[in-house]
Amino acid sequence: QTTPAGKNITLITNKVPLVNSKGIVYGVLGTYIDITERKETELEILKEKEKAEESEKKYRLLYEFNPMPMSIFDIDTLAFLSVNNAFIDKYGFTRDEFLKMSILDIRPESENEKLKQAVRLPDNGITNVGVFIHKKKNGEIIQVEIIRHEIVFNNKKAKLVLINDVTEKIKAENSLLSINDELRVAKEKAEQSDKLKSAFLANMSHEIRTPLNSIVGFSKIIAQKGANCVYNYEEIASIIDFNSNVLIQIIDDIIDLSKIESGILTINKKPLNIEEILTNILAANELIKRKLKRNNVELKYNRNVLGGSVLADKIRLSQILNNLISNALKYTKKGVVEFGYKIIENTTVQFYIKDTGIGIPKEDATMIFTRFYKAKNEITTFRGIGLGLPITKQLVEKMDGNIWFESEADKGTTFYFTLPYIQTETTTPKRLIIKTTSDLKDKTILIAEDDDGNYLLAKMLLNEFGAIIIRAVNGQEAVQICKENNSINLVLMDMKMPIMDGLEATKLIKEFRNNLVIIALSANVFDEAKIAALNAGCDYFISKPIDEKAFIELLQS
Ligand code: ADP
Repeated sequence: QTTPAGKNITLITNKVPLVNSKGIVYGVLGTYIDITERKETELEILKEKEKAEESEKKYRLLYEFNPMPMSIFDIDTLAFLSVNNAFIDKYGFTRDEFLKMSILDIRPESENEKLKQAVRLPDNGITNVGVFIHKKKNGEIIQVEIIRHEIVFNNKKAKLVLINDVTEKIKAENSLLSINDELRVAKEKAEQSDKLKSAFLANMSHEIRTPLNSIVGFSKIIAQKGANCVYNYEEIASIIDFNSNVLIQIIDDIIDLSKIESGILTINKKPLNIEEILTNILAANELIKRKLKRNNVELKYNRNVLGGSVLADKIRLSQILNNLISNALKYTKKGVVEFGYKIIENTTVQFYIKDTGIGIPKEDATMIFTRFYKAKNEITTFRGIGLGLPITKQLVEKMDGNIWFESEADKGTTFYFTLPYIQTETTTPKRLIIKTTSDLKDKTILIAEDDDGNYLLAKMLLNEFGAIIIRAVNGQEAVQICKENNSINLVLMDMKMPIMDGLEATKLIKEFRNNLVIIALSANVFDEAKIAALNAGCDYFISKPIDEKAFIELLQS
């Protein structure tokens, strides 16, 4: 009860009536305790309790509904003691499942050791323990940054863990790193290619001018002196011929290299009869041997009866073999240059080209396949520009093979390269037979060519075979002549001409004389030019400068 004076009292005895001698009640006896202070204390405790409950509720809400995934685990058993909603959302397990699991169950097994070590480390307040790999219920792997601190939870030593999923962040960082890497590589490549370009131009200018100087100089001598020339006419012609071939080789190499570099080199792999290829290569290199005046060198093809086919592009395989054999001839003054092949495990053809030449010094071995690199060995007259081997290597690799060499100074060099092998029936190789004269006698050939020099050259080649030559100086004239002259047996059609080009003219001619054979002639050696010509209706394609041997073979076919 509260007294009028504001005291809190509590009665501790029953009211006892006080009666006088006359039997009149004159009062009531009662005792009480003043509990004012106690009451105040109790009230305070109650308030404190309410406050604590309120605050716990707040913290619980802060924990349960925190967007950051949080959990509490027992330090001794590693069992989950509590998880918040975001934690449940992140990992996909239910709360009940979690409460039966330990923290090992959300890690890939490989991470367990790392975890067991990390978990034992004491935390110094709130601690960022680093990035760990976790596994969700669906097996998805995530990377999480873990922040934790020690607490007591339900009387157990525990850790409160806060998780920050950094999977995407790390991915983004990694891709940024790899982009940076790519940019750095691209920059280095650009710088290197800039340097190479300068070296290339300096090199080229010298390499092209050298043979050109001979061609121009000797041609002038012949032009000025004509039949009165005191020098040996044949010798001059052979120098011009040799240097022209050098020039063609340089230009072919540059074109090949730029095709490879720009990724437009097309490789048409087909099974090719090995015997046939090597037999023809022998014939072609006999000519090279003669041109290089290697009279003291025996050129040998170690014929094999193995047969079978190699899976390769015919032109490119010939180019590889020719490069390696002509190098062997260039760098061998005496002895033998031999080549052949063997089959390895029925899957691979291993070709070899062995010479007894000057050898490649050891210090050059690693650089020999680098562009423009020339070994520091003896300089021979026939040295090229250092593009042959890099192109050869790229071609071999493009056809799924490998190339390497063994060499000893002054003893010789053997180059090896491999290509895929296909087992096929052995057939007798076809030999190329070049017939001469009379084959084209009385045949009428129309040469559509605007350039006088090129026209004259084709005419001279064909006159030798007794053909009758007619000329058109542009496509329109070619169409007109074909319309008016039924006796035309063959057309040599230059592709680039004024008024009407060769493509257009071919299309028109094929409309009224579908069976008339048209050979496209073009200085454009890129595959698109060839495809365009064949699509327009041309039957064959020959690139300029005309290779006399190939041209005659084509005419015969
Ligand atoms: P090149 O056009 O100069 O012959 P390559 O790329 O074909 O260019 O060869 C590069 C260099 O490798 C040559 O200059 C030469 O020094 C060396 N080389 C290549 N083949 C042989 C060989 N069979 N014997 C000795 N040296 C060789």
